[in-house]
Amino acid sequence: MSGLQCLRKLYLACNQRDLGTPPDSAQQALFDAGTRVGEIARELRPGGVLIDEPHDRHREAVARTRALLGQDDVPAIYEAGFTEDDVRIRVDILARSSGGAWELIEVKSSTSTKDEHVPDVAVQLMVVEKAGLTVNRVGLAHMNRDYVYPGGDYEVDQLLAVDDITEAARAYAKGVPEELNAMRRVLTEDEPPDIAVGSHCNKPYECEFYAHCRSREPDWSIEELPGLTSAKREDLRALGIRSILEIPGDTRLTPTQERARQSVIADRPQASSSLIGELDKIIAPAHFIDFETLGPALPVYTGTRPYETVPFQWSDHVLSEDGSVSHFEFLAEGSDDPRAEFAETLIAQLKGAATIVVYSSYERTRLGDLAEALPGRRSALDSVMSLPWVDLLKVVRSHYYHRDFHGSFSIKSVLPALVPEFGYEDLEIQDGKVASVVFLESINSDTEPGRREQLRGDLLAYCARDTEAMLRVVEAMRAST
Ligand code: SF4
Repeated sequence: MSGLQCLRKLYLACNQRDLGTPPDSAQQALFDAGTRVGEIARELRPGGVLIDEPHDRHREAVARTRALLGQDDVPAIYEAGFTEDDVRIRVDILARSSGGAWELIEVKSSTSTKDEHVPDVAVQLMVVEKAGLTVNRVGLAHMNRDYVYPGGDYEVDQLLAVDDITEAARAYAKGVPEELNAMRRVLTEDEPPDIAVGSHCNKPYECEFYAHCRSREPDWSIEELPGLTSAKREDLRALGIRSILEIPGDTRLTPTQERARQSVIADRPQASSSLIGELDKIIAPAHFIDFETLGPALPVYTGTRPYETVPFQWSDHVLSEDGSVSHFEFLAEGSDDPRAEFAETLIAQLKGAATIVVYSSYERTRLGDLAEALPGRRSALDSVMSLPWVDLLKVVRSHYYHRDFHGSFSIKSVLPALVPEFGYEDLEIQDGKVASVVFLESINSDTEPGRREQLRGDLLAYCARDTEAMLRVVEAMRAST
């Protein structure tokens, strides 16, 4: 799969793995969730035997698989291992089918079969058939987005849907030997292929070597142009341009890109003439709010679906008419669905607001979800949504650029550029995805009380920083114009 995305990625993954960025706790939690889905999915074909040899004991896994293939009373093998033509695979579920044939099932924690899943399964199909097995069905098991969790144990046959992708996998498998040959050729070279970063670096997966490959680009790389399209990247590269500093003034750029170009060249922030007018729309009492949410593959709360977003925390910095600032917050406790209490406390908190300030449309979307989930609170939530809202992300993106944004308008990039002494480095949590992992640990009944308090403190500090950050960004933009 690495080789299909980028031959350089394949080379580095095989020969210079240490150049990759290790997964952070949020990515690790995603991988762990995928593993958990894989374990639960075994119930789709129950009664099988798990090959639990780890990946570095592949030879043993293959031997055990071989032995089990001959035992007719074993209906399925989980994590079955095979090696053919130097290609090693593990099959999530290999189940006995009719007439001595086998069914091969790959498990993914996505909500549908994606294009990139087909080659993954096609390689497995090719290897299993080379090993002498007859495969009569290839399935892709994925989360069923329509499943509503009734509480207790998951009903695995409803939680997961299995798509029949036999035809697509068989068609793709025909070209796999040729693709493998091309990859083998690359792996015999002394150096990785010289492939520049581009849109392939996060499609279909975020490449762990991005930081390494990006470091080969010049300062103020064109990769930092906001909203850079593949076509624009190619146009600039064709002209030999790799740095924003080299872009001629008459190049066709979007207004945001042009502001970025001027900011990099002049080494000064650039603001549009409309910026102050946009900031003046923030009328006191102004509530700067931010939510933290979770959306796990495996639903936690009764009545929710896979990946359904559930808000569990809000923070609100209120800028009053006299210029004073006060802070309010909510963080759910316990294992009950937090949405009703979240909505009640927020509705009460936002009473009398003249403006609601957010960073992106995320909070409004979540309020829309809450109105759907809590029909009894719909009219109160609609009233909140009908207040004047200011999306600060849109204001920054459309009216302001500091070259230390490095092409990103995320608050995590904007804040340190505008208020260098006020970042996220001192916090245990520095990312919303990590916050949801921490929240789940905080409500787990196995978590010690002392640890729970510490986690709750970390969550409160993080969400409060996000809302204070917006206030500070507004102040800094006003001061710099
Ligand atoms: S970061 Fe991009 S160019 Fe570098 S190895 Fe990964 S996919 Fe290839």
